[in-house]
Amino acid sequence: MSDMAGPAFRAAREGANVKSATGIVAVVVIIGCAAWLLYYQKSQPAPGEPVKNMTPLKCTSCGKAYAKMAGALPTKCHYCGETTAHRARQCAKCGAIVAYTKQISFSPEEEGEKITCECGSDKLREVDPKAIEIINP
Ligand SMILES: [Zn+2]
Ligand SMILES: [Zn+2]
Repeated sequence: MSDMAGPAFRAAREGANVKSATGIVAVVVIIGCAAWLLYYQKSQPAPGEPVKNMTPLKCTSCGKAYAKMAGALPTKCHYCGETTAHRARQCAKCGAIVAYTKQISFSPEEEGEKITCECGSDKLREVDPKAIEIINP
């Protein structure tokens, strides 16, 4: 009789241990979610503020190219402080970072007006994040 009670009791106790472990995991997950939600809400911009995005920039005053959290462009340069940091594009031909000073516009008069690289190519693409310095806020 006691031979049977031993293993049965142990099995029951192990079952209880598994249950409490599951409970701890659930609590950790809930706390993790709550912390993430809090962080997510804090990282959202306040109502009315311009939404800032990580933008590749090229300054036409000091010539520095970098990526930074920026709102409306041109923005204040991280290096020289002038409001001449424009959106940056990268030349598809030679890989140079070019300041895209032209305002994005859909008016037909501006058609044909293109930003060209020093190498003469007007094929500009998005800047490769690996080719640019990232400035953390
Ligand atoms: Zn600058
Ligand atoms: Zn080029």
